[in-house]
Amino acid sequence: MTPRADSAAAAPTRAALATRAALATRAAFASRAALPSYLLASCLLAACAVVPQASTGTKASPPPPAVSGEPGRTLAGDIPTVDEGAASDSALLAIAEVLSTRAAAVLSGNESEFLATVDHSRPASLNDAHRMWRRIAVVPWAQWRYELVDSGSSADSAGLRPITVVLHIRIDGVDSADSLTQESLQMVATNAGWKVREESSTHAELPWEAGDVSIARAGEVVAMGVGDVPQEELDEVAARERAAMSDVTALLGRRQITGGPLVVVPQDTAMMARLLDRPESALRQVAAVTTTSAAGNQAGADRVWLSRSVFDGQPPLGRMIVLRHEATHVVLRSASTSSTPLWLEEGIAEFVGYHDSGVRLSTAAADLFADVNNGNVPSALPTSDAFDGVNPHLARDYHAAWTVCLWLADRLGVDGLVAFYDQVASGTATDSEKNVDEALRSLSLSRSALVQRWQAALTLWATQGQRRV
Ligand SMILES: [Zn+2]
Repeated sequence: MTPRADSAAAAPTRAALATRAALATRAAFASRAALPSYLLASCLLAACAVVPQASTGTKASPPPPAVSGEPGRTLAGDIPTVDEGAASDSALLAIAEVLSTRAAAVLSGNESEFLATVDHSRPASLNDAHRMWRRIAVVPWAQWRYELVDSGSSADSAGLRPITVVLHIRIDGVDSADSLTQESLQMVATNAGWKVREESSTHAELPWEAGDVSIARAGEVVAMGVGDVPQEELDEVAARERAAMSDVTALLGRRQITGGPLVVVPQDTAMMARLLDRPESALRQVAAVTTTSAAGNQAGADRVWLSRSVFDGQPPLGRMIVLRHEATHVVLRSASTSSTPLWLEEGIAEFVGYHDSGVRLSTAAADLFADVNNGNVPSALPTSDAFDGVNPHLARDYHAAWTVCLWLADRLGVDGLVAFYDQVASGTATDSEKNVDEALRSLSLSRSALVQRWQAALTLWATQGQRRV
């Protein structure tokens, strides 16, 4: 299900690996027809905040000129500076004023001021603006700001002037950092001054471009339905995510540092694919994806994307496991760090997702225990490559990561597992496995000793077969 462009990409980035792993894991789980459906629940992705160009087969193309347009990712260092020519262009100063007015109208909820920035001479532009307003007005914005990054050329003979901006948005009570999206605006010179003829994302669709937007709130969690999503379903998602965040923060001993996350619920897989700029085929088996959309992939604008086609088919326990797994990524800021190896990110998320769920381990991790029962005990911790979507043993390797964390928690307690994670996460961003080795040393463990003891535990759990998690 992963495009061949991915597997052909040389030296894939960690983010790319993580993304593919997350996307493919659902498929691997789904292939186990004998398992109860709730076990098909899990995985989302630690670092899917940056969706590689390779995923759409455009890796060989020149890089995008500015930030990505996807709601859910920005590329560190790719944000262009404000156009230096703007200050010397009186027309641009006027355009900047219009954009400022437009942004202020969004923040103050002033529809007439917003519409006053629109080109009324073109019915389609006015209709688009009315629709955009209807969709964005339901969102509690704390920030809506246009940063001009490409002033284009001067107006053509029809008075049109295309410009490029970075839209800074922040949802009140949810985000602690701005989410950035590159947009293209078509400005037009009219007798009443410069007006907006068109405004659109330059990359992936924004939710309000894809469909009607609805909102549900549960404490600091906001759920955003896009398109035809029943309000009662959205209310339930928000409540469940709030409970998951509460479970996870309690288990991990963390205060919830910021609000959120924003849970985005597109009406169907096709829409989710457009919003994430992913091929639909890569999302068909995915229950959820976690991203951060703050500048430079920093934390503070966390998004959990739910795929209704998979998530809605889960019983309550399966939904809880999925949302706890995602909440773990959010709480641990998985999308914002490269100090931790993927096996630890996904392993601890699975550990928390299933914690005290009562599910039998040998059932939940059937792929792994089938191997163990056949004498094929894993010989090493899963590498980053093991989380590549093209890995035919992806589910087994996810379960391997999980059971390493399970063994660590057995030995150290949950607090000890979290402390271990924290120690690894505090290490260098360039060598996550070295961070693991150093954290193990503080436990008087070598990597080989960890592997040996984990192997022994797997053999024991396979023999007993009764352990529940
Ligand atoms: Zn995950």
